[in-house]
Amino acid sequence: MINIVLFGKPGAGKGTQAEFLKEKYNLTHISTGDIFRYNIKNETPLGIEAKSYINRGDLVPDEVTIKMLQDEVERHTDTNGFLFDGFPRTLAQADALDAFLASKDWEVTATIALEADDEVLVQRLLERGKTSGRADDQDVEKIRNRYQEYNEKTAPLIEYYHKQNKFFPVNGIGSISEITERLSGVIANL
Ligand code: AMP
Repeated sequence: MINIVLFGKPGAGKGTQAEFLKEKYNLTHISTGDIFRYNIKNETPLGIEAKSYINRGDLVPDEVTIKMLQDEVERHTDTNGFLFDGFPRTLAQADALDAFLASKDWEVTATIALEADDEVLVQRLLERGKTSGRADDQDVEKIRNRYQEYNEKTAPLIEYYHKQNKFFPVNGIGSISEITERLSGVIANL
């Protein structure tokens, strides 16, 4: 069992890299952003609840997000391991993930962070917004709000995983394949 948290600011390339890593290591990919978007599209109660937060660029409340994550893990317990993409994003979520995995005798193996400068990332998101159809990618104010949420609530997780000797930063600038190689280098040494 190998459980990887793919960490990084909005636009850092987590989703893109997850597509390669899940194939390479046969992992179950869980993207909380994708699950929220699926629920919004299908107008489920969860989607209706999450929509206003997401469209503003705010984080969805912990209780809702943690419950959704746990349900998704429960659906795939027969796996080689998980690739968590976009979760955890708060200390409460990280604590809940540790406790939940421990209840199954599992743990986070490593948190790998894709690093890049904010200005590069904002430009990437605005580019993506032209084709992604995502309201939260199309407006500089919403994008700035997502970075503020990251800085306030998500950045403390670096220290959280660092203390557990589980934090591995990787340069997130380069070609997709170069970055996959860097991530694979970390995983190979776990
Ligand atoms: P993402 O696709 O990972 O950029 O997520 C898009 C949006 O979904 C975020 O800006 C949040 O509003 C929401 N979201 C995704 N994951 C989480 C999470 N772990 N905690 C709270 N909100 C989340």
